[in-house]
Amino acid sequence: MPELPEVETVRRGLEPSMAGVRITQADVNRPDLRWPFPERMAERLTGARVERLRRRSKYILADLDTEETLLIHLGMSGRMTVSGDPLGQFVHDHPALEKHDHVVFHMENGARVTFNDPRRFGAMDLMATGTEETHPLLAKLGPEPLGNAFSEDHLIARLKGKNTPIKSALLDQHVVAGLGNIYVCEVLFRAGIHPARKVSRISDARIAALVLIIREVLLEAIEAGGSSLKDFRQADGELGYFQHNFRVYGREGHPCVTPDCASVVKRITQSGRSSFFCPSCQR
Ligand SMILES: [Zn+2]
Repeated sequence: MPELPEVETVRRGLEPSMAGVRITQADVNRPDLRWPFPERMAERLTGARVERLRRRSKYILADLDTEETLLIHLGMSGRMTVSGDPLGQFVHDHPALEKHDHVVFHMENGARVTFNDPRRFGAMDLMATGTEETHPLLAKLGPEPLGNAFSEDHLIARLKGKNTPIKSALLDQHVVAGLGNIYVCEVLFRAGIHPARKVSRISDARIAALVLIIREVLLEAIEAGGSSLKDFRQADGELGYFQHNFRVYGREGHPCVTPDCASVVKRITQSGRSSFFCPSCQR
């Protein structure tokens, strides 16, 4: 499931093909993904110029010159591929339409952007530009973890008095937007906090320290994603998936990476999701 750094990598990967470029034709090959598409979606997108691509949490927002904004959510299994990019970053010919290629954007510069989603947990919607803060999917989101509103004071205030495990508190999208299971595991490892520790039993200083660690973990992953974009000549044009070096995530039974720590990474299940942690380094 793509998390914030993967979505940011997709956004950056789409920019050369889409930002400032007109959609000469939009093909919408089914009526819905997770929810029905907006009315006349193909018609409203065809001929529109993409002014800029933004990201809010795990949503990509494409502002159009029609004063509408297209929201794109990859969901669990959504993939975006670019073919025929005129800037030469993607050297692939347009492939034949595949099963689950639900939406295709033919760009004026010759690029083709395809949204493929076998499980259809993804979403696309259109809204008036500037109204995204009231959109049902975005209205209740907390601050962006990489933005100024996400501060030590904010995190301390939002977590004050909570009796939930720190892992669940950080996954709460009202507290901070866009953090998912993988990066919360990595954050808590770097912070030395056990994922099951109750928030009320963590000092304000340790909570405050999480802000910088969250930014660091996300920025490192975004940077890894950015480097992956440079390798697209060898890739299949699919955006957003790249090699990670996780310290605990997915490493159950492997030695802890902390020098001189003799423990192995453990896995527990919290709210139906796996938490990976080192029982010696995380308390
Ligand atoms: Zn350890």
